[in-house]
Amino acid sequence: MSDKTITRFAPSPTGWIHVGNLRTALMNYLIARKAGGEFILRIDDTDPVRSKEEYVDGIKRDLDWLGLHWDRVERQSLRIEKYHEAAQELRDMGRFYEAFETPTELDLKRKKQLNMGKPPVYDRAALALSDDEKDALREERGSGVWRFKLVHERIVWNDGILGDVSIDGASVSDPVLIRGDGQILYTLASVVDDTEMGVTHVVRGSDHVTNTGTQIQIMQALGGTVPQFAHHSLLTGPQGEALSKRLGALALKDLRAEGIAPQALLSLMSRLGSSDPVELRTEMQTLIDGFDISRFGSAPTKFDAEDLKPLTAHYLQTLALEDVADDIRALGVPDDQAARFWSVTRENITTLHDLEGWWKMFSEGAEPAIEDEDRAFIAQAMALLPEGAFTDDTWGTWTAVVKEETGRKGKGLFMPLRKALTGQAHGPDMSAVMPLLQVVKARG
Ligand code: GLU
Repeated sequence: MSDKTITRFAPSPTGWIHVGNLRTALMNYLIARKAGGEFILRIDDTDPVRSKEEYVDGIKRDLDWLGLHWDRVERQSLRIEKYHEAAQELRDMGRFYEAFETPTELDLKRKKQLNMGKPPVYDRAALALSDDEKDALREERGSGVWRFKLVHERIVWNDGILGDVSIDGASVSDPVLIRGDGQILYTLASVVDDTEMGVTHVVRGSDHVTNTGTQIQIMQALGGTVPQFAHHSLLTGPQGEALSKRLGALALKDLRAEGIAPQALLSLMSRLGSSDPVELRTEMQTLIDGFDISRFGSAPTKFDAEDLKPLTAHYLQTLALEDVADDIRALGVPDDQAARFWSVTRENITTLHDLEGWWKMFSEGAEPAIEDEDRAFIAQAMALLPEGAFTDDTWGTWTAVVKEETGRKGKGLFMPLRKALTGQAHGPDMSAVMPLLQVVKARG
């Protein structure tokens, strides 16, 4: 066996992936790339009803957009045979048993246990069933579920983020690995895949810690090598509120549509929850070189989607005209105005979508914002606007004349003029804006 680092991102294609998934994908990606290893995209699609091809495509599109390129794709739905073989092995060694309780019965058992102050762990009643009793139950209720029989001892591992973890096997219910309808659950499929694909590192959310305990026992039963596990904390909202319900609203495809830059997302997610500061990183290689999973803490990580905006704005400021030329041309900006347009707008946008508003303003004119007390002043100033093409000097010469004629100066001079021409109190340097406004003139 080689000592090559192999990681995987293993989403279930039952929905759009969100910032929480991105954290998992990114960490696994960075570990593989930093070690010169392999990054597998594994589609956990053993649920034929909830898995959708449109989500598989969506996952690939999102990862592509972020530049998290995978070395190969695996699909669990194409490997079902292997999971059945593993299930048979577990049966043969007496570690797999069929159970027939209905959800209502299980619920009742749990409530009784809780009432008696006991942990709600499956009582293994099915282990006592004779073959005849099982036949009768199968006849009555159809196939049962298949549970893996845990060894009741402490399961320990050294977690890449949590440090030493120890779970009492007796405190966990024997996990169901095959459902009554025959569907293999990812708990088993994942163990088979991780073992067979030689996965060396598994990073996932801390909601999987108990799964990890049971999966370690399944791996050991099947003779697999246990990978290095790391469980990152879950994201919360800015106030520490659970994010789970809102995660749908933080789908990567929606952030993309909003104009958030992938570089902003990657910069934030590769550092958030770690002891290193969040800084804009525009090169993937810098993220790879600077990644260290041991810098991440176990406390819930606050995430505020608003933080993506200044990072996106900052990123856009680093772009040269050629990087955005297509976007600018698509707005209808004439090529000979593109450089000026970009230099005037780049520091006054949050996302590229904002360019549209600026171009609309320059090309169609803004709705002037004029205070009542400024009306006469503006009328007078407009009459003094020079004839012909506006240049870089127009603002300077014009405002000097207006100052001379009206006696206004400073803010009282410049602000009403800016607002009359752009409709806004803030924005780019007016000297640079004037020649762009002239585009309107030239068009008549
Ligand atoms: N499909 C599982 C999930 O998305 C994979 C968990 C894992 O990484 O093992 O929760």
